[in-house]
Amino acid sequence: MNIDLTHEEVAFRDEVRQFLDTEYPEDIRRKRDESVPLTRDDMIRWQKALNSRGWFAVNWPVEYGGTGWTPVQKYLFANELANANAPHVVPFGVKMVAPIIYTFGNEAQKKRFLPDILSSDVWWCQGYSEPGSGSDLASLSTRAIRDGSHYVVNGTKTWTTLGQHADWIFCLVRTSSDVARKQEGISFILIDMKTPGVSVKPIITIEGDHEVNEIHFENVRVPVENLVGEEGKGWTYGKVLLQHERTNIAGVANSQYRLNKLRDRAGQSLHGGEPLVNDTNFVRKIAMLDIELKALEFTELRTLASVAVGNAPGPESSFLKIRGTEVQQALDALLVEAAGYYALPYVPQQYVLEYPAADRIGEGSETSTSLHYFNNRKASIYGGSNEIQKNIIAKHVLGL
Ligand SMILES: Cc1cc2nc3c(=O)[nH]c(=O)nc-3n(C[C@H](O)[C@H](O)[C@H](O)COP(=O)(O)OP(=O)(O)OC[C@H]3O[C@@H](n4cnc5c(N)ncnc54)[C@H](O)[C@@H]3O)c2cc1C
Repeated sequence: MNIDLTHEEVAFRDEVRQFLDTEYPEDIRRKRDESVPLTRDDMIRWQKALNSRGWFAVNWPVEYGGTGWTPVQKYLFANELANANAPHVVPFGVKMVAPIIYTFGNEAQKKRFLPDILSSDVWWCQGYSEPGSGSDLASLSTRAIRDGSHYVVNGTKTWTTLGQHADWIFCLVRTSSDVARKQEGISFILIDMKTPGVSVKPIITIEGDHEVNEIHFENVRVPVENLVGEEGKGWTYGKVLLQHERTNIAGVANSQYRLNKLRDRAGQSLHGGEPLVNDTNFVRKIAMLDIELKALEFTELRTLASVAVGNAPGPESSFLKIRGTEVQQALDALLVEAAGYYALPYVPQQYVLEYPAADRIGEGSETSTSLHYFNNRKASIYGGSNEIQKNIIAKHVLGL
């Protein structure tokens, strides 16, 4: 594959760099560099900055506000954002539910929902998993029973990422049990989180963060017009969405940024100790990761090229998900190793911009490596666990 850049592509890359120099809010940049968590407002401000340049809905068709970029432009854009350590966009609206709405939704739904996703004025979350249904998602039991012009929804969704901030949730629900296969009778509906009967309960994860939630639905009345596509076809739509989600999870550009950080760290003496570049074993581990990341990068480029000519990302998104998250977690482990015992203390009060640099334990980012390590155990679980991705590859790629 030839990835030499044309003059136009170099000009595009420079334009992205210029944008990041001038439009990436300085306080958010500092927070990212100093490992200070972003607020809801920070994330929205960043997304609005991207949208004001028309660069938020990278993959959408142009008619709905997408960029119309080539795969190479998308690749360059992702790389420049990662090199600037810019925040990830929150995927649930722009990368997940929007493609389902513009592909399977009706005109009224496109008009109603897409503009607010584009402007980040409405925050979405994803209601797929349930306490008894994760890997075996088709066994889900949240019910939506038709009652006149409404569905009445009862059940519980779990692990709902950033659901505490959400205005709307897209859900897979069971509209019929009278089916031959459990994948039938599932529908895809959109629920306003302010509807009476919706409640959000936090789940605190191992690193002490509130990122995920349990969401309860008790006799929640949802207008029938919030059904996307055909009743009973939700499994088909949900699968398309998961393939998009898995492709996004690979995070190649971000891993490249973190690998470069690891190299920098290894080249420096940490608080008077010997630099890790003098440790052949450690350097070998970095080299192995570098090779794996390069291979992954080419697989991602192939998928981007296929999506660009109108294909949905197919089962190859499972390869990307597995290898992408394995590389991320290997990086987490090496970064913790490189931080040494400075990765041990948990000092939540130092993760604010105002905390005096002189009082920081480590350089801030060293102590946060273990937080990231624990938080990112999720990467091989969400979007369908890596074991399940291997089953998909066995069935749909190897034909076993
Ligand atoms: C931090 C985090 C955020 C998440 N965010 C969301 C979200 O926003 N919205 C949402 O809907 N869901 C979300 N999820 C849920 C996620 O998709 C599920 O956790 C995942 O699908 C696994 O389901 P489970 O947790 O029920 O585990 P289980 O399905 O109970 O699996 C337990 C273990 O058994 C293995 N296993 C299960 N079945 C098989 C099999 N057939 N073959 C081989 N191994 C198998 C799994 O790989 C896993 O290791 C999130 C999860 C996490 C951890």
